[in-house]
Amino acid sequence: MNQRIRKILLILEDLYAGSETALIYDSPFQLLIATMLAAQSTDKRVNIVTQILFKDYSTAAEISRISVSQLEEYIRTVGLYKSKAKNILLTSKIIAEKYNGDIPATRSELMELPGVGRKTANVVLSIARKVPAIAVDTHVFRVSNRLGLANAANVEKTEEQLMKVIPKKKWSEAHHWLIWHGRKICKARNPDCKHCPLVQYCAYTNKNLTL
Ligand code: SF4
Repeated sequence: MNQRIRKILLILEDLYAGSETALIYDSPFQLLIATMLAAQSTDKRVNIVTQILFKDYSTAAEISRISVSQLEEYIRTVGLYKSKAKNILLTSKIIAEKYNGDIPATRSELMELPGVGRKTANVVLSIARKVPAIAVDTHVFRVSNRLGLANAANVEKTEEQLMKVIPKKKWSEAHHWLIWHGRKICKARNPDCKHCPLVQYCAYTNKNLTL
């Protein structure tokens, strides 16, 4: 690992040590559903929705028994709610019947569930199962490419490159550091470079820096 990357990771850890997902959940199954809902939405919005949904239907078996239109009513303020409702019902049914209400243990099994992509699988594995993984969402993609931790045009390549430059034992934590930095300082429209502790190591503000 080069000195610049080492420094970036140290500063991020110092800023965001112990940070966790902002999603509220009581079980791995609820984390999976909340993460599915969070695509194209905010964690804040998802928490408002799931607070009511999980109070009424907290398990895979319970959710699998409600109708699509009922579920749509619960989640209609979240982006793409119609397709999410269908996928959540199918996924809940599979989890209730095939996995006895718990989430599958492997990435490939998780990714076989309707509506579960690699990012969602990585979030759930890393948080609920403590499997080292870097889920590349919009914040992780933007911040890591601006910083020059990655230099990639898509999330798959970004994940590959991050896994090479970040030590494996830090993958899951680093995912949270990058998300929180993206939320607080390195925002999509107006990154606050003036007040960013990473400014001297960042490829966005130092065009001569490379990976
Ligand atoms: S210096 Fe600017 S672009 Fe670089 S990480 Fe900080 S806020 Fe983002």
